[in-house]
Amino acid sequence: MTKPFDIDLAIKLINDAVRPFPKAAMFELAEEGFKSPFEQLVACMISIRTYDEVSLPTARKLFARARTPAEVSQLTFAEIDSLISTSTFHERKAGQIHEIACLIMDKYDGNLPCEREILLSFPGVGPKCANLVLGIACGQPSISVDIHVHRVTNRWGYVKTSTPEKTMAALEAKLPHEHWIDINRLLVPFGKHICTGERPHCSTCPVLDMCQQVGVNIRQT
Ligand code: SF4
Repeated sequence: MTKPFDIDLAIKLINDAVRPFPKAAMFELAEEGFKSPFEQLVACMISIRTYDEVSLPTARKLFARARTPAEVSQLTFAEIDSLISTSTFHERKAGQIHEIACLIMDKYDGNLPCEREILLSFPGVGPKCANLVLGIACGQPSISVDIHVHRVTNRWGYVKTSTPEKTMAALEAKLPHEHWIDINRLLVPFGKHICTGERPHCSTCPVLDMCQQVGVNIRQT
């Protein structure tokens, strides 16, 4: 019988447990100074279906050349494509990034507003990236759910959902606002290094005594 899940305690314990591991990519870039809404949006697009180990240097390479909507809109499609060529689906993303930079120049005077509807209106931008931008660059409490947040919160038994989209809705209804930005910051490294997709490290996990281990083959942990 597990203890009732205490989300405040879990966040605190996981915060300590992930300290030795690399930060989630968008948070790492923000710490390096790439924390404008446009930089965060572009970096998130680069990171889609791409490992952090690849998307981080790719984003840095693009930003070394151009990091504002004005600068990126001046690049050609081929230049952007070449700069982000290590990212998965780079051709499609290059076109979308160029189009977004031009739209921001035309419609918003070169400054990307911190508005969810505007972010979601751009090509290639879904709730995960929109919420990361709002949370990290704009400081607006927003829950970004990737595959790690989805898997871990379901294993805890904290939510019971079948898709990341449904997890986002369930967390918005349940998770205290003060954890909305941190849940992504913490569960990305936690999901990569402790509550891993295969063979999670349950025996040394700091939240074992309150985790329901839903769907986990306990004999393998
Ligand atoms: S106890 Fe296991 S399943 Fe639960 S959070 Fe920890 S590693 Fe994941």
